[in-house]
Parts: sequence; C-alpha cells; structure tokens
Amino acid sequence: MIVGAGFSGLYMLHSLRQRGFTTRLFEAAGGVGGTWYWNRYPGARCDSESHYYCYSFSEELRREWKWSCRYPAQPEILDYLNFVADRLDLKKDIEFDTRVTAGTFDEHDHRWQVETDHGETVRARFFVTAVGNTSAPSKPAIPGLDTFAGKIFYTANWPHEKVDFHGQRVGLIGTGSSGIQATPHLAAEAAHLTVFQRTANYSVPARNHLLTDDMRREQDETHADLRRKTLASPIGMPFDPPPAAALATPADERQSRYDELWAGGGFRFMFTSFSDLTTDIEANDTVAQYIAAKIRDTVTDPAKAAVLCEFNHPAGTKRPPIDTDYYETFNRDNVSVVSIRTNPIREITADGLVLQNGDRHDLDTVVFATGFDAVTGSIIRMNLRGKGGEALRDKWDRGPRAYLGLSPAGFPNMFMITGPGSPSILANFPVCIEQHVDWIADCMVHMRDRGIDEIEALPQYEDDWAKMIAEEADKTLLPLADSWYMGANIPGKPRVFLAYPNGIHTYTALCDDVARRGYEGFALRSRAMAEAAA
Ligand code: FAD
Ligand code: NAP
Repeated sequence: MIVGAGFSGLYMLHSLRQRGFTTRLFEAAGGVGGTWYWNRYPGARCDSESHYYCYSFSEELRREWKWSCRYPAQPEILDYLNFVADRLDLKKDIEFDTRVTAGTFDEHDHRWQVETDHGETVRARFFVTAVGNTSAPSKPAIPGLDTFAGKIFYTANWPHEKVDFHGQRVGLIGTGSSGIQATPHLAAEAAHLTVFQRTANYSVPARNHLLTDDMRREQDETHADLRRKTLASPIGMPFDPPPAAALATPADERQSRYDELWAGGGFRFMFTSFSDLTTDIEANDTVAQYIAAKIRDTVTDPAKAAVLCEFNHPAGTKRPPIDTDYYETFNRDNVSVVSIRTNPIREITADGLVLQNGDRHDLDTVVFATGFDAVTGSIIRMNLRGKGGEALRDKWDRGPRAYLGLSPAGFPNMFMITGPGSPSILANFPVCIEQHVDWIADCMVHMRDRGIDEIEALPQYEDDWAKMIAEEADKTLLPLADSWYMGANIPGKPRVFLAYPNGIHTYTALCDDVARRGYEGFALRSRAMAEAAA
C-alpha cells in the first residue's frame, strides 16, 4: 500500500511492480503529480535545473522527454509526471480522489489496516508513505478570515482555472519561495499588489532560459559525468564543491566569485561559492551583505529596499529561494511592501487587513503563500497507530523520530519516503526519492526471499539517529533560523531540526551499509520464528 502519487509514489509503485509485488496506491488529488498537481500559482516553477529535477532510473524516459528550459514551469513538470505515469502504465493501480484517513498495524497477522475517506478498508503487508514534505498547507488562523468579502487563494492549493487579478487590489502574505515566485506575476495583473513580509528573504536570480538543441546535446553527452557528480554531492546536484572558505579568501577575490555566481544564477550561488557559509557566522555575513547590496542596487526606492533587507537570520538557514525579477518588481508603482515583523496582522475584516497598530489595507483579494506544516504534517494527519495502538501523533509530540528517517520504532513494516530525519529537504528531491525507493524495495525483496514477515526499527538505533541529527545540525547555523526546517513556522510544533544534515551522499552510504549488515538496527521477524519461540 502506497499513499501519494507524486515523484515518490510513482517511482515506488513502478519499483514494487517490477519486483513482483501486488501494489495499490491511494492519492487524494484528482491526478498524479503531487506538488505539481496542487501548486498551480502563477510563477510556480522548479528551482532545481530540469536536467536533474527528473527521474534517472530509466534511460528510455530520459531520452524521450525534452525539457523546454532551465527551470520549467509547473504545467510542464506536471506533463512530465503524467508522461512517466502513462509510459509505465501506472494509473491503473492508483485510486485518485481518495484520502487515507487512518492506518493501524495489526500485530496478529503483521498487516496494516488502512482506511480511506470513501469508507474503504484495505489490508497490506507493507505501508509506504509517499505523502510529500510540502503537501500539508499551513493556513494561518487570522481572526476574521471568514468575514472577508473578497477572494482568498492559497498558493499550495491553487484553482485549476486561471485566476484573473486585473483591476484587483491584491494582498500577498508570505515571502518564501512561493510568494517570491508569485510576486512578479501578481504585480503584472493587479491594480495594486501589497506584499506583507514577516521575514525578509535572501533571493538569488534564477537566470532562467530556454534550452537550445546544442545545450541539450551537451547535457546528453556529459550525462554520465553529471550523474557521477550528482551522486557525490551532498545536495544531489551536479555541482563542483566550493573551492575555498570565504574567510580564507581575500575580499576582492571573494567579491569576484560572488559576482560570477550571481551572474550565472540559481543554487550554485549559495551552494558552490564558499565552504563555510552555513557553519561560520562571519563567513555568512559576507554573503548576507552581498545580497543586501544587490537588493539596494536593484530597488530604487530606499524605503522599500530597507524593508526587503530587514534580515533576522543568517543567509541560507531558511530554504534559499531563487527568483525571476522579484526585487525588480518593487520598482513598479503598483507594488508596495509592508513589514509585518513587529506589526503583525491583527485581523481580517470584510474590506481587507488590519495591522496591530491599526493601519488598514483595503483589498479585493488575499493570496496566502504561507507555506506548509512541512515534513511531518501529511504523515501525522493520516492518524497512524502502531504496536499496542500507539498513535504516531503522540510518539512524535516532542519531535519526529524514525531510524534513518525511514521507519519509526513501534510501526513495523512502515516506510516513509523522504521522512523526517532523512536528508531530502536539504537536497534535490528526485535523487533522494530514488535512493529511498530503491532501498525500501530491496528491503522488501530481502524479506520476501527469507520468509520474513515483519521489520521494525529498534528504539536504541532510532534514539541514536535523532541524537546524531541534533548534534550535527548544531554544528551548523541552520538551527538559528525560525524556519520550517526547524518546525518553527507552525505554532506549537516542536522545535527540532527535521533533516539529516550531512548530505544525501553520506546518507546513501550509511543506508547501504545498514542493508549490507543484514538491516542492522532493525528487528526482522517471521511467523515461524514467533511460533518456534512460543
Ligand atoms: P508530493 O509531490 O508532495 O506528493 C505527495 C502526494 O501525497 C500529494 O499528491 C498528496 O495529495 C498526497 N497525499 C498526502 N496525504 C495523503 C493522504 N492522507 N491520502 C492520500 N494522498 C495523500 N524540490 C526540489 O528538489 N527542487 C525543486 O525545484 C522543487 N520545487 C518545488 C516547488 C514547489 C512549489 C514546491 C511546493 C515544492 C518544490 N520542491 C522542489 C519539493 C517537492 O515537493 C519535491 O521535489 C517533490 O515533488 C516531492 O514529491 P513527493 O512525491 O515526495 O511528494
Ligand atoms: P515558506 O517558505 O514556509 O514561506 C511562507 C511565508 O509565509 C514566509 O515568508 C512566512 O514568514 C510567511 N508566513 C507564514 N505564516 C504567516 C503568518 N501567519 N503571517 C504572516 N506571514 C506568514 O513557504 P513556501 O514559500 O510555500 O515554500 C515552502 C517550501 O516549498 C520552500 O521552502 C521550498 O522547499 C518549496 N518550494 C520550492 C519552490 C521551488 O523550488 N521553485 C517554490 C515554492 C516552494 P516567516 O518566514 O516569518 O515564517
């Protein structure tokens, strides 16, 4: 049983079928795509470049699909995932418009009993969550929200039909990746766009462009080398590692390197410039100041620029956004930015927003780009119960725990693709997803071949994994920000770093080692063993 039909669920379904398992998949959406089904807001596109934001497991799929540009927009990525699902004939095993509402591990016959919102109950040997890290939208409970007379939209659950903002006074709440991507598009249509900013972000130009045949040919010819680099990289992107530490580099050389990478655009700026940016606050200041200078150069109104530079966290300690014309958009007369850091939204009335100090902003439309109950939200919302009826929600009430980020102790035969404690949110997702899926599918084959009915993470190994993550994260600047990486964007969510921080490359080696040692850290049990023991 698999839940979710995005990048993760589709590949899991294919892999299990290939290995001869009978598999069903439930998906709450009306089609495949996951993230790319739901996030249809204007400007939505990937930040990983197209030639590595895709599957690598099939040479045929890679050769048959042609990306139009460096960072394709949402419709093209959705088309790609539909192409994959059709090409592999996956849809026949997917039940769409079906939400999993509960799941309980039955200890007597080692099966998961899974319930759906259609009242169906399904029993399965294995239960795999492919529910996504950014799939449970966070909808802030602002007083008066239901009294607003205008229209309300959420970037994370955007209508399928085009929304027309012409002539509208639009308020956008949120300046994470989604808000930053949507801003230029909303501004181009709206009579006036007001961006409500709680936290200033450090955005870097994407420098998107079309791919020519020559560029595609080069990508094709260097594919094997790029793939090797990708697998050797902590972030699952085919980048050369940073050549030096910022603090060991003379200021003029440092400036030149930032200039060169800024001109190239994209994630290379943050991830390949210098090795000490996320571990040393002084080094981090060099990049923060560089970006602030770029914002001041770009935004002609000093008052707007000052708001956009109201940083309160080190650069790169929240997920770095990349943009197309984000800062330039604030040079338009019809765009303003309002800091709500110390003067938050007090309420929403029929006419618009009222801030703490009484300032009123009359609006026709409010767009929430307020993010997600990330990583754990969609898993917890499934109401899962493990051995002894223990609720996962209770087990995780002081923070999620799962050995290798793959499986929680007390929840046998349950695997999470890109679960909390895996490296995925800090890396290029398809690479992490393929690694997880291959490992999980091979584990199931290992069990089947040996007549093993049950696999369960051992509590001691789970504890050690959680402790190691906290210790390793504390060696970086990442825990300093109130980020969704820390669960800090959701009121009441435990403040715990949610990812394995040492990179997908070392994580892969650790997982392979665990498997090689006969799944060290897991208890493997068979019915026959249990009967013999009895
Ligand atoms: P999702 O794509 O989130 O799919 C999960 C699916 O599970 C959803 O369809 C959901 O409906 C379903 N589901 C959840 N709960 C239930 C339930 N109880 N019952 C039934 N179905 C359920 N990552 C990158 O690496 N690079 C990028 O450039 C990038 N761009 C992004 C852009 C946006 C706008 C967003 C929001 C995220 C982006 N990401 C990016 C992260 C992205 O989520 C992953 O790259 C990838 O798409 C995740 O795939 P997934 O299958 O694991 O999860
Ligand atoms: P996000 O990064 O969590 O940003 C949410 C924004 O809303 C933040 O600015 C946040 O402020 C603000 N906010 C939240 N609640 C608020 C409230 N009650 N009042 C006022 N402001 C509030 O969410 P996102 O932009 O949707 O992105 C989430 C993740 O999805 C990204 O980090 C990324 O991983 C992925 N994503 C990727 C892409 C891409 O690759 N192209 C595009 C979009 C999303 P604070 O910062 O103060 O909390």
